Amino acid sequence: MKTLIKGATILAMGGAHGTEPLTGDLLISGDRIEAIGTGLSADDETRVIDGTEKLVMPGLVNGHLHTNEALYKGRYDNMPLEVWMLYSYPILKAKRLPPRLVYLRSMLVAMESLKTGATSIVDDLYESPKAELDLFEAAVNAYEDAGIRATVSAHVVDRRFLDTIPFTRETVPQALQDEADERPPPSVADYISFVTEAHARFHGRSGRISVMTAPSAPQRCTPELMQAANDLARQWGVPFHTHIVETKVQCATGPEFYGKSLIRYMDDLGLLQPWTTIAHSIWVSDDDIAIMGKRGVSIVHNAISNQKLGAGVAPVRKLLDAGVNVALGSDGICSNDTARMFDVMHAAGLLHKINNPDWSRWLTASEVLHACTLGGARSAFTHHETGSLEPGKKADLLVLDMTTVNFTPLNDIRNHLVYCENGASIETVFVNGEVVVEHGKLTKVDEKALLAELRAAMPEFLAHTLEVEAANRRLEPYFTKIIHRCYGKDFGIMRWASDGA
Ligand SMILES: [Zn+2]
Repeated sequence: MKTLIKGATILAMGGAHGTEPLTGDLLISGDRIEAIGTGLSADDETRVIDGTEKLVMPGLVNGHLHTNEALYKGRYDNMPLEVWMLYSYPILKAKRLPPRLVYLRSMLVAMESLKTGATSIVDDLYESPKAELDLFEAAVNAYEDAGIRATVSAHVVDRRFLDTIPFTRETVPQALQDEADERPPPSVADYISFVTEAHARFHGRSGRISVMTAPSAPQRCTPELMQAANDLARQWGVPFHTHIVETKVQCATGPEFYGKSLIRYMDDLGLLQPWTTIAHSIWVSDDDIAIMGKRGVSIVHNAISNQKLGAGVAPVRKLLDAGVNVALGSDGICSNDTARMFDVMHAAGLLHKINNPDWSRWLTASEVLHACTLGGARSAFTHHETGSLEPGKKADLLVLDMTTVNFTPLNDIRNHLVYCENGASIETVFVNGEVVVEHGKLTKVDEKALLAELRAAMPEFLAHTLEVEAANRRLEPYFTKIIHRCYGKDFGIMRWASDGA
């Protein structure tokens, strides 16, 4: 089956044209782009789409996402990460969800992503109280059914919760410590066998599913686990996906735990590699940035989530200057609280203007678009196949109507995409050559029925959530103390807007 889009404005985001729009035709054959040019012809079997006043561009890549937070969408506000995690990643009284609820949770995010232009998601999937194959499969099934491209992890923490944050042992009362310590973390062997099985079963499914490794963070995992996960990532050609220095508390953690910054610690373990993707990278020093550039790592910039949790502003311009690949992510669905990547591009385009008076250093719309397309694909290690419109690559693309209010009057297309568009102009979405959204509607699933089923499942989930919240709230006063203790330390790194550039 072939599709020819004729006479469209094409923003290829790669190849010879890069971020310069051109007028021409694009031919899709099977799951791939066969040709881009002018005067391309079609046979009788080919579906032809009139590209007049249409924009064709690569599907957006959401480089960092936790779908497991989706049931808490819109639930919390005004909490920093270490307090917010007590509720969104609860340690006490957490219980396994039914697989169907995990399916609906993943489906909710997949449906929103596709309708708002993300054809590819990197889902750093965390299940509480522990990862299980049938739950992992439920998420994968949702992505297959919706038709989205997904790189999925089994997010893992192999240290006891209280040993992942500094000063807990001297701050939290013993009885509460004992309760929190009841849940044993998985062993290295447990994790490796789990992720190996998940990779064997699901990697490559439908030509759209990848399985990556994702040790949560250097303060939450043992070096043995991280090194084993990194070896598997190298072997499989998938990302080694992790979190480093999202918050000032985490910045204090490196010196407290290891006597050095967490970036230097990871580098000393040989864990900063071209396939390493670091979510956040906010509280990094100039030395850290130089190491990251030298190793050719990727970071995922979560411009909305970092504001919601008051984490700080990642030094994206400095990271780009050092040669670090930059992607964009929504982050979890209750620190954002949506998966809309046009919103993330808008926020990323604006955020860096407020903490640097030197406007020559601000991100351009082209840089933001690159981060949300080819930069994202590079961070997911799918850049040979996706992220730009080039002959031979997978046909993951969006067709937008340029007669909408968001594009009227039309000036610079790239500025419109970053500062005006919100996904409402999307008409058609292709993933792997297949139409998954048409006239703004999902083609493969019944959105209305799935949303209704999820709403019906929520009362039971919320009753359980209230109990979990009450149990974990008891930790909040002690975590508040720890956060203030870390905020009082000076690392010579300024990452809040009020700190200046
Ligand atoms: Zn994250």
